[in-house]
Amino acid sequence: MIQIEHLQKSYGSLQVLRDVTTTIQQGEVISIIGPSGTGKSTFLRCLNLLDQPSGGKVWINGVNLLAPKTDVTKLRQKMGMVFQSFNLFNHLSILENVCIGPIKLLGKTRIEAEKRGTELLKMVGLAEKTTAYPDQLSGGQKQRVAIARCLSMDPEIILFDEPTSALDPTMVSEVLGVIRNLAKEGMTMAIVTHEMGFARDVSNRILYMDEGIIYEEGTPDEIFDHPKGEKTRVFINRIRNYHCRIDNANYDLYALSGELITFCQKHFLSAKTQYNIQLLVEEMLQVIPLDSGLDLAFNYSERSGQLTLEMLLTDDKQIFGPAAEKELDPISLSIIKGICKSIDEEIEEGQLRIKCVLN
Ligand code: ADP
Ligand code: MG
Repeated sequence: MIQIEHLQKSYGSLQVLRDVTTTIQQGEVISIIGPSGTGKSTFLRCLNLLDQPSGGKVWINGVNLLAPKTDVTKLRQKMGMVFQSFNLFNHLSILENVCIGPIKLLGKTRIEAEKRGTELLKMVGLAEKTTAYPDQLSGGQKQRVAIARCLSMDPEIILFDEPTSALDPTMVSEVLGVIRNLAKEGMTMAIVTHEMGFARDVSNRILYMDEGIIYEEGTPDEIFDHPKGEKTRVFINRIRNYHCRIDNANYDLYALSGELITFCQKHFLSAKTQYNIQLLVEEMLQVIPLDSGLDLAFNYSERSGQLTLEMLLTDDKQIFGPAAEKELDPISLSIIKGICKSIDEEIEEGQLRIKCVLN
């Protein structure tokens, strides 16, 4: 459906896309992942000519996008785009937002456009909101309107540029739910996202971009479980882990708690797991002496579903274990033991490493 060959884009002397070659087949769902600043947004913008490529070729259903006589407006209509910021018209009602494109650009009558618009709003769960204005909606609802508006133009492919990154964590899943349904219905989509759990289960193919090229591409299993390239491995490992350093007892518990929630949501961990992680950290930080600081890391293996917490601190005596545990607050201890399947400790050169596997 889309064929991209040696696509390049520079802004002045800054070469953002160096050489991007890939194809997108009809019905494919492709997630594009990678560090920020590597050209993911630029890539999507070049595909629908919001940015003019500096070199290379793009064919859409056999039509050369960059040929001078190509009807760009028409081609662009076939490609919907959903942005991080929803770009709704604030002075128009939700239904009008969804109808304006088809009326102005596709020549539909108001009646036709409203009929289809109402159906689309129903599909994204906003049938009740047709007469509301964007300001009256939550971020998640606005993004769903943006998706409905995009669908109103009957696109053949939808390009999503981080559709959930401007949202409150609580609203991410309602938007991902809508995208997931589109995937089920066979919509062709290219999605730039940081939601790895989602990318993994919605996509046929993952493109890992780094420094202006597609550094590695493969199935979700290949990319997430067996990344071949060094950079892919580093990236995948980093996002799978949560790590932080706590320097002393005056650490910011609320900030830490927020980061842990974000980590859980990225991996679609259950509300119960999320609660347990927070409780475990809170209780651990009660019983572990913090005077010399502590490194804390969660690691989640998507394959086994196993979650481990590792803590490293300067200490030369055990905290857990039959003899040492007597010193601990019994309530904290029983909470910790209720959450963990196992707790192992290791002392090496004045460093104490505690490894807990969560239930
Ligand atoms: P990503 O989406 O992967 O985070 P982008 O495609 O947004 O990356 O940006 C890649 C690089 O291109 C960044 O260094 C960014 O500063 C630069 N860039 C993006 N758009 C422009 C622009 N319109 N003018 C100049 N530089 C830009
Ligand atoms: Mg971007």
